[in-house]
Amino acid sequence: MIKNSSEKAMNKLVALCKRRGYIFQSSEIYGGLDSSYDYGPLGVELKKNIKEFWWQSMVQTREDIVGLDSAILMHPKIWEASGHVEGFNDPMIDCKNCKRRFREDDERVKDKCPVCAGELTEVRQFNLMFKTQMGAVAEDASIVYLRPETAQGIYVNFVNVMQSSRQKIPFGIAQIGKAFRNEITPRNFIFRTREFEQMEMQFFVKPGSDGEWFEYWKEQRINWYDDLGIKKENLRFRQHGKDELAHYAAAAFDIEFKYPFGWKELEGVHNRTDFDLKRHTEYSGKDLQYFDDATRERYTPYIIETSAGCDRTLLTCLVDAYDEEELEKDTRTVLRLSPKIAPIKAGIFPLVKKDGMPEIGHKITDDLKKHMPVFYDESGAVGRRYRRQDEAGTPFCITVDSQTLEDDTVTVRERDSMQQDRVASDKLLEFLKDRI
Ligand code: ATP
Repeated sequence: MIKNSSEKAMNKLVALCKRRGYIFQSSEIYGGLDSSYDYGPLGVELKKNIKEFWWQSMVQTREDIVGLDSAILMHPKIWEASGHVEGFNDPMIDCKNCKRRFREDDERVKDKCPVCAGELTEVRQFNLMFKTQMGAVAEDASIVYLRPETAQGIYVNFVNVMQSSRQKIPFGIAQIGKAFRNEITPRNFIFRTREFEQMEMQFFVKPGSDGEWFEYWKEQRINWYDDLGIKKENLRFRQHGKDELAHYAAAAFDIEFKYPFGWKELEGVHNRTDFDLKRHTEYSGKDLQYFDDATRERYTPYIIETSAGCDRTLLTCLVDAYDEEELEKDTRTVLRLSPKIAPIKAGIFPLVKKDGMPEIGHKITDDLKKHMPVFYDESGAVGRRYRRQDEAGTPFCITVDSQTLEDDTVTVRERDSMQQDRVASDKLLEFLKDRI
């Protein structure tokens, strides 16, 4: 079968992720578990860096947003109030012959099964929430759900957080955490999986000011991807049409990225109105209104939500950074990740394994390690060591050579330009910090 270019591009990335220890198929030795992935040594670092960068920009550097880490298992009534029990459905179609299941909006689905040309069922609704039992007694009353979004944990803690942190409207609550959706057709590597992590922020505002805040957050969030190093031309907004708005939303924009398989949602910015807080007031019987001391007004705040997928952001960084550069003799594969989020900041190589070069290399590694993740490598030809680090996305490589023995300088090679600078060993930290 001839593979199309999008599939080829994704296959190359998937292979690199495995080769360099970014992402592995989950349960691989048992044949793998569909749509589950594990992050390897470099993947876990990259994910941590993305989360830290998000937290820094959304919480740490702002006075009007505070953090939260709510439980995955919550009172089942929350999901009735939120509308998820009734309405968190995807329309699906089954093939009567091969039993494969498709989303109704799958472009491949026409009037026959796109795989075996078998007859298709009518469209049916499929609830995406994972259900499980809590405690030892299996009865309906003990049903709980794995949360399909982190947002509800924020809404039900709105009063707790506001009172304890003494925030006044407008203010936001941010959370990073796992969410679970029993997706009908998980696809495209880690783009759509059944278990994933979200980075969500809910901003509580006075009704009437929601339009303005919505515009503000749209702008902030697209700029964040720019700061993350994603190329501008690969990002765009897409407004949801009236017919695709979620049950809670008054307005919604997706920030989309140009993946090899097309423009797709990377993050959603939603005006959720007062829907969620009003519903939780109704279902819990607790007053979730805000009292404005200055104006003596009482109201249910509107919520502007920014909802990003952490795994999807990581995939975006990898896709955006992946490059194959034609050189004179061969092709160089390089991950041009922003140094800010690159898992390893510098590789350290002794040119040869003798003349005291490994000892100097180890000393440099030990010194730098206290400040940033670095990697010592003495195996194989130096050119191959450079290439391994290019593929890993490491922005700098430091080589100890014979000149080091004379004047205590080393070669620093920059990943993207491959330009080499001579830097004094005792100035290395400063040199790297300036560039990271
Ligand atoms: P889609 O239409 O792609 O299913 P959605 O509109 O249901 O997504 P939201 O509910 O807005 O998505 O979720 C917010 C963000 O969470 C998405 O922009 C995405 O980054 C991430 N996300 C949602 N579902 C998944 C998934 N199954 N796997 C990975 N990330 C996801």
